[in-house]
Amino acid sequence: MALPPTNTDSFSDSVQKLWDLMNPCTLCPRNCKVDRTNGQTGFCGIADMPVVSSVGPHFGEESVLVGRGGSGTIFFAGCNLGCIFCQNSDISHQRHGSKVTIEEIAEAMLGLQKFGCCNINFVTPTHVVPTIAAAIETARKKGLALPTVYNTGGYDSVETLKLLDGFIDIYMPDMKYSDSGVADELSSAPDYPQINQTAVREMHRQVGDLTTKNSVATHGLLVRHLVLPENLAGSIEIIDFLSEQISPKTTINVMDQYRPCFQASSHTKINRRPSRDEFQSAQQYALQKGLNVLL
Ligand code: SF4
Repeated sequence: MALPPTNTDSFSDSVQKLWDLMNPCTLCPRNCKVDRTNGQTGFCGIADMPVVSSVGPHFGEESVLVGRGGSGTIFFAGCNLGCIFCQNSDISHQRHGSKVTIEEIAEAMLGLQKFGCCNINFVTPTHVVPTIAAAIETARKKGLALPTVYNTGGYDSVETLKLLDGFIDIYMPDMKYSDSGVADELSSAPDYPQINQTAVREMHRQVGDLTTKNSVATHGLLVRHLVLPENLAGSIEIIDFLSEQISPKTTINVMDQYRPCFQASSHTKINRRPSRDEFQSAQQYALQKGLNVLL
């Protein structure tokens, strides 16, 4: 068994088990099976030490996450998806940032709490969850009381998510596609729809529907769905899935901010923004189904 590199108290069984999943790495559905504890890297491009590109209060997230003090974001470099329209390719694909230890992430969380942020928001966390869980454990022992947000592209394995039970208060997964061919073409992940739906089911099992206090999220599931041109995201199917198989009261942010970034401008299907009609029909459908649509 590999041990988390730290001089602090020992960690829980869940953290140890997460750490073990890095050798051979089966932390996410890519199942690269490399030894990340010994410096090897797989699809996500990150070994055992996470690379953080930025830390700070963020006021551009959903208003339920921002409150007065902002969402305390920690952006992780690298990604287990290969989206050709990535809006953060310098972070996700070029992996700009600095390597950080468990203790440094824990201190960053405590700093965000001191600043007045209303949550700790882990952006693109899937491939670095062993360190995140260890850092949460460390920070909670030192007084961290804020809700934690798991802000993921939604390509997460259930086995890993089960080990995160109790560490995460708010799950915020993307639901990007309902069609396997589109998921393969745009993100190199043909099994994304099935993996994503199974992951969202597990997330909801752990935390339930989104709850708020004074209009700020405290616990639960918040789904993000980015509308793509030509209905490539499969919005109707995703909304039906949430309404019929997760909860009719699921909170969803139907997003209109798609624009062709990274390699998308050379791809004829996605080299434009979605039209107003394309966005509104998806959002209206979610409202008709009775979901809790963030407006
Ligand atoms: S976390 Fe990274 S190395 Fe591990 S299976 Fe996923 S993509 Fe591969």
